[in-house]
Amino acid sequence: MDCLFCKIVAGEIPSHKVYEDDFVYAFLDIYPCSEGHTIVLPKKHFGRFTDMNEEEAAALFSSVNKIARTVESTLGLEGMNIGINNGEIAGQTVPHVHVHIIPRRAGDGEGNMHTIVELHPSTDKLPELAEKISNSFE
Ligand code: 5GP
Ligand code: ZN
Repeated sequence: MDCLFCKIVAGEIPSHKVYEDDFVYAFLDIYPCSEGHTIVLPKKHFGRFTDMNEEEAAALFSSVNKIARTVESTLGLEGMNIGINNGEIAGQTVPHVHVHIIPRRAGDGEGNMHTIVELHPSTDKLPELAEKISNSFE
């Protein structure tokens, strides 16, 4: 498959690897948002996080937790943003699921991930929306 991250996992494209096990591969982002910006991905190709099932997602996040704790202690961090751009509309540029671990430090602006979109729509529909979503679980 012609996928950049599959090629990195296969070693066809070099990367600064920080961790690998049977299920995941983690490496440093080549255009880091901050020092230590790490990307964690499942070795198996999935386009988007929402293309994975619960078991696969749990395995991914178990590894993300382990890697984030190691990045935190190794770099002496007080915090980080951990997140996924899920789908092109949400800014996903590489169509192979990956989780960003972005170290945060004092003086870096200290904005949270909510500052990505600040439309602040009316809250009138929250009860209706919550009901709609909660009634949709299988
Ligand atoms: P996305 O926007 O899809 O969530 O994130 C893709 C990330 O992959 C970006 O942060 C980008 O800097 C990173 N990236 C793109 N190409 C490469 C590459 O060839 N090597 C590495 N290490 N990171 C890459
Ligand atoms: Zn892939």
